[in-house]
Amino acid sequence: MTKQRTLSIIKPDATTRNLVGKILSHFEDSGLTIVAAKMVTLTPEQAGGFYAVHKERPFFGELVDYMCSGRVLVSVLEGEDAVNLNRKLMGATDPKKADPGTIRNLYAESIAANAVHGSDSAENAATEIKFFFPELK
Ligand code: ATP
Ligand code: MG
Repeated sequence: MTKQRTLSIIKPDATTRNLVGKILSHFEDSGLTIVAAKMVTLTPEQAGGFYAVHKERPFFGELVDYMCSGRVLVSVLEGEDAVNLNRKLMGATDPKKADPGTIRNLYAESIAANAVHGSDSAENAATEIKFFFPELK
């Protein structure tokens, strides 16, 4: 395994419930290092651009509205197998199906308001990191 980077977003349902510290602890406790981070409120253009792959899905409008409904903490996590490790820490998209102890099992409210985003492949991670941190070396 080689060192890898992935993009994480702590979503509005979690930031508004003051869960940022608890969620970041899951990353750091598992050996991932936070190499960049910023708290932002996304515009509909940014949220729609970021989730453009889901443009045709019935929940797209709801997803964009939700992602703009409060602050999000966007970060870059680095470590061994970071993409897959972060997905494991997050748990399944639907919190009802997320394994015990995962971030979504512990903190998510619903399939839409599910606490965190994580890149799902190394290729998408590179694109998503560029989207939010174009200056990051
Ligand atoms: P993410 O991309 O946010 O890390 P994911 O990869 O687990 O989540 P995707 O299938 O990429 O899941 O869906 C993107 C996001 O769209 C989900 O995290 C969730 O917020 C929202 N979403 C997915 N399915 C539904 C649904 N059936 N109804 C409402 N919102 C949904
Ligand atoms: Mg996804």
